Amino acid sequence: MVLANDCHAGIIGEAVFGDALDLANVVYLTLSTGIGAGVLDGGRLLFGRDGNAAEVGHFAVDTTYRVRCGCGHEGHWEGYASGRHLPRFFTRWCEVHGHSLPTGWKGDAAAIFHLARTGNAPAVAFIDGLARINGCGLSDIIVAYDPERIILDGGVVRENGDLIYPRCLPYIDRFLPLPEILVSRLGGRAPLLGAAILARGEPEIAGTDVFRSSCQL
Ligand SMILES: [Zn+2]
Repeated sequence: MVLANDCHAGIIGEAVFGDALDLANVVYLTLSTGIGAGVLDGGRLLFGRDGNAAEVGHFAVDTTYRVRCGCGHEGHWEGYASGRHLPRFFTRWCEVHGHSLPTGWKGDAAAIFHLARTGNAPAVAFIDGLARINGCGLSDIIVAYDPERIILDGGVVRENGDLIYPRCLPYIDRFLPLPEILVSRLGGRAPLLGAAILARGEPEIAGTDVFRSSCQL
């Protein structure tokens, strides 16, 4: 049996069928219910001691708003920009900046993006605040993994990618050269495709060492 988390499966899917094909250093980043990544480093899946490498959702990205992450710590990326926690960050952001929550706001991530699209001033300003957070997270990914390419995926990106990226571009540090950043073309299927490849045990498809470091149980 082979065990891999959704992000590790996602980078494998991208390595075989998507935009990580023929590249050796790629980060697959999902902004969805949570935030996580799968990293291809020199053609190998970065796995870590127990398969938890690249839990980038727990990168520290903020000390101003002090929003608590689901893991219990403050300031973690996932606690701000994941679909699950976006509404809580929006609420906190409005408190800090003295905005009343808009009438009729139903409190989910989709409602925030809808407000921004309809020109609601606090929501529009919040999108810039969110871009700062995402820019910080992406900066950390770049200095941690030095990728050639970052592939964005997850429901938050697929549904509102234009309000996520390239909005965060001005807030990405340029300590290292900016990698190419793009949205997955696999339409959310990268993790399933990667899982299927792992389940079939066909490492030769990718032509990389990506599978050798997967968790063989
Ligand atoms: Zn956390």
